[in-house]
This record gives sequence, structure tokens and C-alpha cells, in this order.
Amino acid sequence: MGLYHTLDDVDTRGKRVLLRVDLNVPIQEGKVTDTSRIDRIVPTLNELRYNGARVIMLSHFDRPKGKRVPEMSLEQVVPALEQALGCKVGFVDECIGKAVEDAVAQMRAGDVLLLENTRFHKGEEDNDIVFAGGVARLGDVFVLDAFSIAHRAHATTEAITHLIPAAAGRAMEAELDALAKVLLMPTRPVVAIVGGAKVSTKLELLGNLVGRVDRLVIGGGMANTFLAAKGVAIGKSLCERDLLETAREILKKAQGARCEIVLPRDAVVAREFKANAASQTVSVNEVPADGMILDVGSETLSDIATALSDAKTVVWNGPLGAFELTPFDTGTVTAARQVAMLTRMGKLISVAGGGDTLAALNIAGVTDDFTYVSTAGGAFLEWLEGKELPGVKALEKR
Ligand code: AMP
Repeated sequence: MGLYHTLDDVDTRGKRVLLRVDLNVPIQEGKVTDTSRIDRIVPTLNELRYNGARVIMLSHFDRPKGKRVPEMSLEQVVPALEQALGCKVGFVDECIGKAVEDAVAQMRAGDVLLLENTRFHKGEEDNDIVFAGGVARLGDVFVLDAFSIAHRAHATTEAITHLIPAAAGRAMEAELDALAKVLLMPTRPVVAIVGGAKVSTKLELLGNLVGRVDRLVIGGGMANTFLAAKGVAIGKSLCERDLLETAREILKKAQGARCEIVLPRDAVVAREFKANAASQTVSVNEVPADGMILDVGSETLSDIATALSDAKTVVWNGPLGAFELTPFDTGTVTAARQVAMLTRMGKLISVAGGGDTLAALNIAGVTDDFTYVSTAGGAFLEWLEGKELPGVKALEKR
């Protein structure tokens, strides 16, 4: 039995199903430029339609702050939705009230209706139960199929679950399963790879991970702060000097939790932060005073390979270097390809997520080889921080 209510636990046959998704997709000149969030909800939609449900879709778009902002209307997403689903999608320019109720009353089995941006109402972000009630009366069952908004306690992610039966859609279920496999009930050893620019944005994440994983690989700009905390001279590298003590505390916590920390042993340094800048690989103890660490070196990559060699589970967030600038993507690409290869060989389960991580995996060309890649951004990070996500808690079996 799973931990959360899913489509297997609720009867959606012939029902009015309120499906909360994340249609906050990138749009340029009225056209959706990246449909990955839409593509992920297709299985849930097909299943509901196959069951003869009437599907009423809810989403936010951008940040209208409780007001009607025409440029933030969800109507512009309808063509992309119709294309992904291969069926007609109706639209009503409201998400509560008589006009919507009338439109829902006209629906037939298998119909899909999209309602207007929930954030046009202040009650959405206020998690207002009265607003949630106005939405809830449109449906018999509530299905959340967007992990990316599960960290928000909003009316159509949290309050509504107190009013009608609620369940996770298939995309949400897959994400929850993947996350449970890496942190809640992982097969050990578990290796976390954390990179990115700064320690400051990932303090809680690092603090949580050292208590849960067996090995923590730290790369990217944030590794410089850890190196500096250990007394290494890192020249002009990006470093948060005010966090040296915090970095030492994290290292101490790791020691107490028997979490092995893998820090860079060597680094690729340059004098300029730009693509193809002249660079050299040196030991971290030999970084020139005017040099900047922009990537991990080959010895560090071999340490990472060793850390991964018997790993059963890998969780990854953040690049190991300034991956947008060639050749400083080498470390990230090499390590990502190794995780991908071990995953393909069936040796480990790999889960990655967080904005820049996806871009880095795409550069390495291995996004499809990881067991699961989260597109959730903030929610994925909060999960790694060990926080309770309101939208997930609402679906827990008690
Ligand atoms: P984050 O959003 O925290 O995951 O950070 C991603 C950013 O970190 C990317 O833009 C990288 O270019 C940057 N980054 C990674 N390693 C370094 C480094 N050694 N020096 C400067 N920036 C870095």
C-alpha cells in the first residue's frame, strides 16, 4: 500500500474531477515554448477521460497577485493543451461562480474544460477556505497532478483537500515515488551530488542531506566556501566569506552522522569568467592568487567515480562548475554521464532536479537516462531540505 492517495484509491468513473495542474509554462508571443509540464499530465488526463470523467482543469499562471491581468490569462495555453491531448479543451474565463457552474453542467463524459487563472482571486494564495469552497462545489473529486506547486499551501492545492476527496495524479505519484526512493526509503549507499553557485541558497538542503546520505559530493562555486573554511587559499574564486563558520558546522555534522564528504582535490582555474578563457588544472592547494576556480579537475572526477562505484542511489542538484561556459562544463558533463551509464546498467537509481541541474543534464545529453528528473524547481529543493510540503501532506494516507 502506498503512502499517498492516488487515482487507484478514488472512484473517478463518470465523476466531475477537478484536476489541479501547473500550466505556468514559458510563453513567447502567445506560443508555449516548452511543453514538458503539459506532456507530463497527459497520462492522468487520458486515464480520467477513459474512465468517462468530466475533467475540470485548474491552474495558476504567473503572479497576478489576486487581480485579473489579461496577459496572464490561461486561455493562451488552450492550443498547446489541445495538441498534447488530441482533443478539444473548453475554456471559461472564471474559476468560480455561475458561468463556470453552468459550463460544468453542460459537460459530458470525457470532456475537458480549463478554468481561468486561479491566482486572479486573492483567496487562492491566501489558502482561503471560502474561495476553495467555490471551486470545490464544481467537482466530486480533487486530483493534484503537479508536484511543482506542492510546496504552496494555496486554496487549490491545500484548502480544497479538506472539502472533497483528494488524490495524486499519475505524474505527481511518479514524482512522490521517485523522491521516496532516494530519501525516505533508499537502497544504500546513497550518494548526493550538490553543486551550484552558493552555499547560502542551499544551507538547509546540505544540513538535511548530511544526516540522510552516506556520501555527499560538493562541487561548484559552493565547494570554494568549504575549501576556504578548511583554510585553503582559493584566489579570486567565488566564495561566501561570511559562511565559513556555517560550512565548518556542516562538515562537523557530517562527521557526526558518518556522512563522507567529497570535496574537490583539484580544480580548473582561469583568470576570466568567460567561455574558452585560458585555463589550467591545479591542485586546490595551488590556486594562483589571481585565479578563479571554474570547474572540478580530473582527480576530483576520479574521486567522484569512486564514490559512485558501489552506490545504489544517487540524488543530484546543481552543477559542479560554471557549466554554461565551455570548457567549464566538463566536470558536470563527465559526472552526469557516469551516473547515467550506471543507471542504464541497472546499478543504481538516480534522481535529479532543480532548475540549472536540468539545463546541465541536457548539455550532457543524459536527461532521459536518469531514473527520474524533477521539473519542480522550488518544491524539489524544499523536499531535499526535509520540509513538509502542504500539497503532499494533504494527500497522505492517515
Ligand atoms: P545554482 O542555481 O545555485 O544551482 O547555481 C548554478 C550556477 O552556479 C550556474 O550558473 C553556474 O555557472 C554557477 N557555478 C557553478 N560553479 C561555479 C564556480 N566554480 N564559480 C562560479 N560559478 C559557478
